[in-house]
Amino acid sequence: MLPISKMAAAVQPSATLAAGAKARLLKSEGKTIFDFSLGEPDFNTPKHICDAGYKAMLDGHTHYTAASGIAELRGAIARWYKRTYGYEFSPEQVIVSNGAKHSLHNALASTVGPGDEVIIPTPYWVSYSDLVQMTGASYALVSTTEKNGFKMTPAQLKAAITPRSKLVMLNSPSNPTGIVYTRAELEALADVVLESNIGVISDEIYEQLVFGNAKATCFAMLRPKLAERTITISGVSKSYAMTGWRMGWAIAPLHVTKAMGNVQSQETSNPCSISQYATIAALDGDQTCVETMRVEFEKRRDLVCRRLNKLPGIRCPIPDGAFYAFFNVEAHFGKTLKGKPIKDSLTFCSAALETVHVNLVQGSAFGAEGYVRLSFATSVDQINKGIDRLAELVS
Ligand code: PMP
Ligand code: GLU
Repeated sequence: MLPISKMAAAVQPSATLAAGAKARLLKSEGKTIFDFSLGEPDFNTPKHICDAGYKAMLDGHTHYTAASGIAELRGAIARWYKRTYGYEFSPEQVIVSNGAKHSLHNALASTVGPGDEVIIPTPYWVSYSDLVQMTGASYALVSTTEKNGFKMTPAQLKAAITPRSKLVMLNSPSNPTGIVYTRAELEALADVVLESNIGVISDEIYEQLVFGNAKATCFAMLRPKLAERTITISGVSKSYAMTGWRMGWAIAPLHVTKAMGNVQSQETSNPCSISQYATIAALDGDQTCVETMRVEFEKRRDLVCRRLNKLPGIRCPIPDGAFYAFFNVEAHFGKTLKGKPIKDSLTFCSAALETVHVNLVQGSAFGAEGYVRLSFATSVDQINKGIDRLAELVS
């Protein structure tokens, strides 16, 4: 039998992608599934972006490009940050990859390895821990709770730093909780970072999807010299409904961008040429589409939270960003729902899928037992029907 490497044997399949695949399989068997598992906008990519992709093909942009991405796109990304935040950096500091997940992999692979430690506040997006482990580094989890708004405090960060700590991973707006750190909260974390030797990976992929008075902050520009310690990650998957185009990027100090570029040039070469041209259209083009989708997500958030909070034994904090409700179901542990014994978030999700055909993701996959994640990147009709089914389960 062919051997499996230690690294590959230790990797868990992505829990979110696995949940999405399960729903697809059941649907292909003709079952009606109310699928709230994947964090993927249900909207189609706006037409002007698709047109730019089509035009790129017709114009012959179907060849290899520079491994770190075409200069025009790196320039468009730099322009977007200047316009949006007033953050200025050179396009050479940008590297474009096959989705932000790939950017995260490149960032970690280029900065940490065996013997190093990466600090991750919980709840965290499922892939962070495995992406760290794949580099040979280990991770240290810092627990946050609903009571403190699922936010890591400066004191917690300070206490977590050891001589082995190399990086802390921040994610605001957050997947899975939807929390958005305020500027002041991030400044306080930035001060702890600057007092230490650690760097930061700031995953800001949900930055354009914030609700009410919440505002996303670009971490790297909060303090002078912070950009020298920060790798900013983002992409077009969420805000422009472009998950399938696989376009993400990292902005880093030049020597890190160069290292990431070398890694990428050996691993995957350039990201898709056609997607790169489409992404220029997304960033430079009319931004109305982003606001239209954001408004729709906010309406769905209100609906989901209002309805979930009326269900027995469910408590749903209101997310300020992204498109996830992360709700507590602990009151059901130790009970039997529709004949299924519930002992944790995984058994709750299995019972929901098997008995009422509602597909959710267990909080334990995000390092937060007791909770369940519902992605509301799906239609109001599906949300209403799915929550009707959940009501049937928990009543
Ligand atoms: N970061 C977070 C927090 C996410 O939820 C996702 C979702 N896929 C990603 C990064 C990666 O997105 P993509 O690879 O589609 O750009
Ligand atoms: N990030 C999304 C999610 O959390 C998409 C799936 C994935 O890339 O893991 O559902």
